[in-house]
Amino acid sequence: MSFNNLGLSAPLLKAIKEQGYSEPTPIQKQAIPVILDRKDILAGAQTGTGKTAGFTLPMLELLSRSKHTKQKAHHVRALILTPTRELAAQVAQSVEVYGKHLPFKSCVIFGGVKINPQISQLRRGMDIVIATPGRLLDHMNQKTIDLSKVEFLILDEADRMLDMGFINDIRKVLEVLPKQKQTLLFSATYSEEIKKLSDRLLNSPTLIEVARRNTASETVQQAIYPVDKVRKRELLTHLIKEGDWKQVLVFSRTKHGANRLAGQLESDGISAVAIHGNKSQNARTKALADFKKGEVKVLVATDIAARGIDIDQLPHVVNYELPNVSEDYVHRIGRTGRAGNQGEAISLVCIDENEYLANIEKLIKKDIPKVWLKAFKPDPSIKAEAINQGGGGRGKGGNSRNRPSNRSAQGANSSRASSGRRR
Ligand code: AMP
Repeated sequence: MSFNNLGLSAPLLKAIKEQGYSEPTPIQKQAIPVILDRKDILAGAQTGTGKTAGFTLPMLELLSRSKHTKQKAHHVRALILTPTRELAAQVAQSVEVYGKHLPFKSCVIFGGVKINPQISQLRRGMDIVIATPGRLLDHMNQKTIDLSKVEFLILDEADRMLDMGFINDIRKVLEVLPKQKQTLLFSATYSEEIKKLSDRLLNSPTLIEVARRNTASETVQQAIYPVDKVRKRELLTHLIKEGDWKQVLVFSRTKHGANRLAGQLESDGISAVAIHGNKSQNARTKALADFKKGEVKVLVATDIAARGIDIDQLPHVVNYELPNVSEDYVHRIGRTGRAGNQGEAISLVCIDENEYLANIEKLIKKDIPKVWLKAFKPDPSIKAEAINQGGGGRGKGGNSRNRPSNRSAQGANSSRASSGRRR
């Protein structure tokens, strides 16, 4: 099937061609016709499936079909909500790329940067606004945005937004939106909370699911490297040097750990930079840009900072520590093996993390192969310790299926408390 049969008009087909896409991905094949039919959708799709184009293309198509009256000051026609600034910026870029041959105005609004330039953009009226919930609320409170004419609402990575404790912010946004609108909800995982949100929000939605629920992408080769905690850094340096890795995203559970590891890798002669919520937005944008350009080999990131990061053909992802929330593993390894490319996800696992590993394997319903390196064989005399949950971690989580219901809010609060007001 080609893009030509999906009901998109020439300006969009031209932009798609310029991107070099030859055929729609499964989520695009399924979602685009349904959205063009003006139906609400609930889509289960991870990043890497092409979901962004899956909602952006039909949204642009429908906006271009409806009568284009002159945009009124502060008005918005389409609102896209994302959990993080990085994802907002990436979605905004997609809107620009795919909408290149259409006359729409779009802007992105998130915290961590000055609000005034956003206010002047909004004053002109915008066809499309991509926003994180916190800063959007600031604009609503200051009456610098008018959402009463929204025709489309898109929630991207809705599960992440709930995990990050944005539910109340989202509710406040929903209150000011018109009843009559088309709503698209994207979520990588399903939970009771997502079901509740979709029941409230969506009108007889069409369900679309491309990757099976909570299964790790099949283009990602996963492996566990058992190793003692104190030797993880040595092993990581070894893997990067031996494998001559050019670009690797490393996940660290804490901000402090991310900084420390980046510094240590630098002293091992490997260019590395850390990205997390304590860094300014400019520093994060620069770190990501340097990494994408290949000027920095290793990007060490915390889960929150890494959400939505879209790097074409990222070959390696390393879990320096396993996440204590199993779903985060699926999100992390979804950074590689995207759009059909092969990717490798390696987890350095010490004895203390065996329970996390068991939970992850239960979630993805398969055992991850173990690679035992002779030189890094764990010392059998080291016994498992109760894992220290402090030091900036995400609170007691354990198995995601029986985690406390306020885990997310706690996690979001603790990370906000230490990183200042993160909107
Ligand atoms: P997403 O899941 O939206 O984060 O997209 C993942 C990646 O797939 C992005 O780098 C897109 O540029 C790319 N992509 C989206 N649609 C297609 C397509 N039809 N063919 C090839 N690549 C695509």
